Amino acid sequence: SLFGLPDQAPHEKVLLAADAQTGLRAILAVHSTARGPAFGGCRFWSYDNELAALNDALRLSQGMSLKNALADLPFGGGKAVIIKPQGEFDRAALFAAFGRAVQSLAGDYITAEDVGTTTADMRGMLAHTQFVSGIPRDGGAFGGDPSPKTAYGVFVSIDEGVKRVLGRSSLEGVRVAIQGLGAVGWHLAEYLHQAGAQLIVADIDAAKVERAQAQFGAQAVAIDAIIAADADVLAPCALGATLSATSVPTISAKLVAGAANNQLATAAEGDALQARGITYLPDYLVNAGGIISVAREYRGEGEEGRVMAEVGRIRERVAELLERVRSEQSTPARVADAWARSKLVKPAA
Ligand code: NAD
Repeated sequence: SLFGLPDQAPHEKVLLAADAQTGLRAILAVHSTARGPAFGGCRFWSYDNELAALNDALRLSQGMSLKNALADLPFGGGKAVIIKPQGEFDRAALFAAFGRAVQSLAGDYITAEDVGTTTADMRGMLAHTQFVSGIPRDGGAFGGDPSPKTAYGVFVSIDEGVKRVLGRSSLEGVRVAIQGLGAVGWHLAEYLHQAGAQLIVADIDAAKVERAQAQFGAQAVAIDAIIAADADVLAPCALGATLSATSVPTISAKLVAGAANNQLATAAEGDALQARGITYLPDYLVNAGGIISVAREYRGEGEEGRVMAEVGRIRERVAELLERVRSEQSTPARVADAWARSKLVKPAA
């Protein structure tokens, strides 16, 4: 439903922003401002059709409400998608028009990078809106690309999960299958390699796979073989909905934890994973490192060491989640959902 499923709060506001001159067609979805202004990245992507773009914006912004709440950030959930124009277009002008659309929401929505957008896009928008983050600052101030922070949060989550779920004392020799070696996936591969994990990788970009083979001694597998790869951990770091009714029965890993947003195609897959004895660490819990980084930057509270320490605390939430799952005899997806929803209220000052 466009106005929310029975168990979900509906969106507060959704803006369709179009600009004939630049070819902008964007959807800015404000899911919840209960905790503060809605904060979430902007995706720049080619969609099969406009409804697919709307669906993506609505699902991603709901996820941001849960992510920001679980990360204890004073922000609500929002997300924007820009439908990639076909043919030639002026990127700077397009993002300027998008910046004006963000500004028109008067601070109800704050944007940053997501798939397909860069720090240069965010910097370019500064002339058109103050509600933007993820910008490298002059003079050494904290800010910029959130993906290394996201990767660090996923890394500590995998490390905690490996200890608690697989009963291993370290990542040494643990086989991790990474789907997608993009901005986050690559940094994650670096962390895991340094910790002694064995990497199995797939990406539609062959050059990235070759680089991972050379740099990390990674084993390469085909795009359609990564989910079922013979691994201890599966880390989806490409796009969403990889955990589906058809893919879940093929997974051999016992732990799933990755950066991609909206990994579960539907809520039923959360139950199906648990039924197969696979522990799924919910995406919005483990991939909050990037939003923590851009949120602290936006509030002028950023400092590398402090932000890394805050991202590192995702480990404690993973531990608490797994304890709750055990005591409540439930699934990680259900427990995380209820936990996040209980925090969809204005935080104490
Ligand atoms: P990215 O575009 O840099 O990387 C995605 C990678 O996945 C690319 O290398 C792409 O070639 C690859 N890919 C696409 N389809 C694939 C497929 N079917 N099989 C294998 N590889 C495939 O994006 P990113 O910033 O690394 O983000 C990855 C995921 O993490 C996204 O879902 C994003 O929403 C989510 N995420 C990112 C951040 C962040 O800080 N960048 C924060 C939270 C969540």
